[in-house]
Amino acid sequence: MDPYQTYLDMFAAMRDGEFENARELALALKDWFAKGGFYPYQVTETAMHAYIASVLRRTAGHGPAPAFSLVCRYCDAGDGLATEAAAIAEGWSEIELALALPMANYCGLCPDCKTRDQ
Ligand SMILES: [Zn+2]
Repeated sequence: MDPYQTYLDMFAAMRDGEFENARELALALKDWFAKGGFYPYQVTETAMHAYIASVLRRTAGHGPAPAFSLVCRYCDAGDGLATEAAAIAEGWSEIELALALPMANYCGLCPDCKTRDQ
């Protein structure tokens, strides 16, 4: 296996919304490293594991819609908001699908940054 190619394929699958495929690739990579497979020089060990964990977390309920996870576009707020409705109720706005982000499936503007903007 070429772990870097698998990593790129996993990234592309997430970007294209192919969560089932992305999850399979993430599991294959996890297995590869668990068995002592080498790390591609293009990606640090920390970044690789963070991204694999992120893909596995985000594809856990894979189906037609990606699992809701949110991060603010200006800060790291967004943890613990399980649905878009909950985020809106807390004052979030400009929530949009952002599948290329490494840490969440959606990005938006948190209430704190919104206040700072004005
Ligand atoms: Zn913010």
